[in-house]
Amino acid sequence: MTYYQRRRLYRRIYRISLAVFILVLVVGGIVLSNSEPPMTPLIVDFLATKQSAELSEAQLQNLHAVVADQQQEAPLTMRFMSHFLMRRDLFYPHIRALVLYIDGTPYLTVADYGVANQIIAALKKYDGSESEVLAVELEQEVSFRPINVNLFEFSGYDDADSVLQYIANGGVEVISYTIVKGDTLSQIAKNNNSTVERLIADNPYLNNKKYLTIGDQLVINRPEPLVTQYVRVIESRIEQISPVEEYVDNDQLYVGEKKLVEQGVPGERFLTEAVVYRNGIAIERVLQSEEILAEATNDIYYKGVKPLPPQLADSTLIRPVTAYRVTSRFGPRRLGYHSGIDLKMSIGTPVYAAEAGVVKSSGYRGGYGYLVAIDHGNGLETYYGHNSKLLVSVGQRVEKGQKISLSGNSGRSTGPHLHFEIRLNGVAVNPEKYLPF
Ligand SMILES: [Zn+2]
Repeated sequence: MTYYQRRRLYRRIYRISLAVFILVLVVGGIVLSNSEPPMTPLIVDFLATKQSAELSEAQLQNLHAVVADQQQEAPLTMRFMSHFLMRRDLFYPHIRALVLYIDGTPYLTVADYGVANQIIAALKKYDGSESEVLAVELEQEVSFRPINVNLFEFSGYDDADSVLQYIANGGVEVISYTIVKGDTLSQIAKNNNSTVERLIADNPYLNNKKYLTIGDQLVINRPEPLVTQYVRVIESRIEQISPVEEYVDNDQLYVGEKKLVEQGVPGERFLTEAVVYRNGIAIERVLQSEEILAEATNDIYYKGVKPLPPQLADSTLIRPVTAYRVTSRFGPRRLGYHSGIDLKMSIGTPVYAAEAGVVKSSGYRGGYGYLVAIDHGNGLETYYGHNSKLLVSVGQRVEKGQKISLSGNSGRSTGPHLHFEIRLNGVAVNPEKYLPF
């Protein structure tokens, strides 16, 4: 064999070996990469320290990046190469754990699928024994994705309850307040930038309490849960129907009076409603059907229609002057009709209010001359005419017996006298029905 023959042979062997090696590499790569599950477990050493199962800000960002890389469809050879390069877990033990994702954001790690399934089941559960559940929906997408974590460093959540509490508290530590002596809800609310309504919403047990208990813990401004549950149910319940007030006219009672004569009996109805609950609080109720089990009977009241009596029944007028002589009485007279009683006296005699009231007019008015008119309420008015001087003004409150004017001879008058007149509901009545003159 010549040198050249040998060289050709070695070159051929080398080429064939290289071709076989490459073939093995490629075929092996295809077999190996296809044997991997579609979602390759990530090897994340930094994850989940012993101190806390929650992820730090930096860890979350890193994890985001790794997950994003994973999701890109890398070329086959790249995947094949990385498969070998990244098998660092060959050298130290890793275990499978699960990362909780809510709407694409990783929050924490849990130990295994058992815990993950309990969490999902609890989030989708609704406790309404009396209702027919149509649907339970979560507003956010909740999922778990596997990762490999270092066995010696990992301490993920291994109980579902702690994770559910974390989700319910919005992923943050809630502030709680311990009630001390002298606390009131409004004061606690004010001190913590909250409102009484919000406090009750955050601490629903307060609804059924009359008094605060010293030592109780109140959650202040509970954040929105990370996961929002919507439940649509059909609910049935029995509701009381209140009696309706019914009025019957009664002429034994005065206007404005009412009297219960027959107490109504509440009825009952059976309701079926379509209800939507958001995190356990009803946000929508639509009546589906209603069945009256028992009609309510009305509360029956007598309603007074008897006109109010004149106020004078128990009030007595006093005479407007103390010394006088009657010169003309109430009623028809030679020229027309006399609407009051004329009391003769000397000019300047004090005139007193016959009853307490409010001055309705005080001034000159035609035939009355200088007139004071007082409104006593309940349709009763008194008029004092022909004065020489007025001592009260319109709108002024006067007491019974208060001096209101000095008598005179003003207006259509044939000599010094006081014209005293009583009006009931605008109609002049005989003063002697109220007072002897
Ligand atoms: Zn007169």
